[in-house]
Amino acid sequence: MNALISVSDKTGIAELARALHELGVRLISTGGTARLLADQGLPVTEVAEVTGFPEMLDGRVKTLHPKIHGGLLARRDHPDHMAALHRHAIGTIDLLVVNLYPFENTVARPGCTLEEAIENIDIGGPAMVRSGAKNWKDVAVLTDASQYAPVVAELKASGQLSQKTKFALAVAAFNRISNYDAAISDYLSALQEDGSRSPFPAQANGRFVKLQDLRYGENPHQQAAFYRDLHPAPGSLASAQQLQGKELSYNNIADADAAWECVKGFDTPACVIVKHANPCGVAVGKDPLEAYSKAFQTDPTSAFGGIIAFNRPLDGAGAQAVSKQFVEVLMAPDFAPEALQVFAGKANVRLLKIALPPGGERPWDQGQNLMDIKRVGSGLLMQTADNHVLSLSDLKCVTKKTPTSDELEDLLFAWKVAKFVKSNAIVFCKGGMTMGVGAGQMSRLDSARIASIKAQHAKLSLQGTAVASDAFFPFRDGLDVVVDAGATCVIQPGGSMRDQEVIDAANERGVAMVFSGVRHFRH
Ligand code: 5GP
Repeated sequence: MNALISVSDKTGIAELARALHELGVRLISTGGTARLLADQGLPVTEVAEVTGFPEMLDGRVKTLHPKIHGGLLARRDHPDHMAALHRHAIGTIDLLVVNLYPFENTVARPGCTLEEAIENIDIGGPAMVRSGAKNWKDVAVLTDASQYAPVVAELKASGQLSQKTKFALAVAAFNRISNYDAAISDYLSALQEDGSRSPFPAQANGRFVKLQDLRYGENPHQQAAFYRDLHPAPGSLASAQQLQGKELSYNNIADADAAWECVKGFDTPACVIVKHANPCGVAVGKDPLEAYSKAFQTDPTSAFGGIIAFNRPLDGAGAQAVSKQFVEVLMAPDFAPEALQVFAGKANVRLLKIALPPGGERPWDQGQNLMDIKRVGSGLLMQTADNHVLSLSDLKCVTKKTPTSDELEDLLFAWKVAKFVKSNAIVFCKGGMTMGVGAGQMSRLDSARIASIKAQHAKLSLQGTAVASDAFFPFRDGLDVVVDAGATCVIQPGGSMRDQEVIDAANERGVAMVFSGVRHFRH
C-alpha cells in the first residue's frame, strides 16, 4: 500500500505517518511534509523522486504529474487502466492525506493583500483530492486531522478500509474542496476597485452543514431540516446543546432563535417568553425568578406552550416557577443541578444550553458581519443583521415634557423589546417589564389597540407606562390610543411627514416623547 502525504497543517501528521509505516505502508511526500517525516526518522520517498521532476515555481508545481494522478485515478478493477500504469511504471496511490494551503485563515487576517491571498490558493492539493475522491473505491482520501485516528484504528483492526468508510471520506473530501473553492470565490467576488471588500459579494455561496433532520416543517405536510453556518457565530442558536426533552421542531427552533436573540441583548438578568415568533413577555429582574415572574404576568394566556429564554444560568427557584406552566423549550446559558432536577420528571420539556458569546453581553453580533437572509421566489434578500444598539445619548426629546430617569429606563427597555416584535410593533412597558405587546398588524393603530386590550386581559394597569413604536407614527391617532390607555412617555424613530402633528398631540396630551432616529422593522 502506498500513501501520499502532503499537508500544510501538520497537526497529528507524524503520528499518522508512524502508524501507517508500522502497518507496512510506503510513505510518499512533498517538500515540507517529507522533511518533517524524515526528521521523525520515518522512511519517506519524495514526490520529486516519484515524478522524476523537481518541485518547481515556488511549489506551484509539485504533484501535478501523471505519475501521481495516474496512481490516484486508475481503476484497479479495469485491466486497461492497470496495463497503462504498468506500461508507464506508475505505482498506485491507495491512501491520500492532504490538507490545503490555508486560504481561509490567510484572508481572515487583517491587512491580507491580494498577492498573499492568491499565493494561498492551493492547486495541486485540491487536484489530488478530487482525483482520489473520484476513485473512492480504491483510494482513501483524508482531508482533516479528525479522520486520522479512526482510519488508523480501522486499518489496524481489519487491514483495510470498508467501502462505507471510503465513501464517507470521499464525500467529506468533496465537501472540503467545495468549501475551499467557495471561500476563494467569496473573497475574490467581494473585492472592490479600491481594494476594500463589499459585505455582499457578486456571487453569494451559502455554505451550511446539516445539524439534524426535522420531523416536519412549519406544517406537517412540509419536510424540513436544520442547518448551521459552516462557521457559526459563538453564542448563536446553532451552537445550542439539548440537554433533555423531545426532538426540537421547526417552529421550536424558529421561536427559540427569536427568544435567544432578544434575551442576549440585556445586560441584567432577563427572561423572554416567545410565542409564534413574537415576545409575549419580557422582563428584567434581580434574578431569573423575578425576571420570569414579571415576564409571565404580561400575557399568561399566550405564555402557555411558550419558548422561554434566560440570559443567566437558571437556578432551582427560577426552574420551580417555570415548571408551573406548560413550556415547550427552555433556554439558558446553564442550568443548576436543582433546575435540572425540577425538569427531570418532565421528559417532554426541551432544555437547551447555550453559551453566551464571548466579549461581553451587549453588542453580541457587532463586527461579525452576520447576514440576515430571506428567501423570495428564486432569489435571496440579504442584509446585515439588525444589531443596532441604542444608547441614551442617541435620544432626542421633542416634547415640552421630558421623561424622568425612570421613564427613560423604561423607554430604552421598551425599545429593546420592540426591535424583536414583528412589525407593526407597539410595546407598553413599566418597571423593566412588558405590560402589553401589539405585534404584526398591518396598521400601527391596530397594534396599539391590541397591546392595550392584551394588558386589560392580563389585568395590568397601563397608567404611567412607557411605549415604544418600532417605526414612526404616521398620524396622531396611534399616539392618542396609547395615551388614552395610560402611557406617559413614548419612544419612536420620528421621520414622518406628520411628525409635527404627532409632537403637537403629545404636547397637547402632556406626555413626553423622544425620537430614536432608528427604525426596527421586523417582518
Ligand atoms: P509541503 O509543506 O509538503 O511542501 O506542501 C504541502 C502543501 O502543498 C499541501 O497543502 C498540498 O495541498 C500542497 N500541494 C501539493 N501539491 C501541490 C502542487 O502541485 N501545487 C500546489 N500549488 N500545491 C500543492
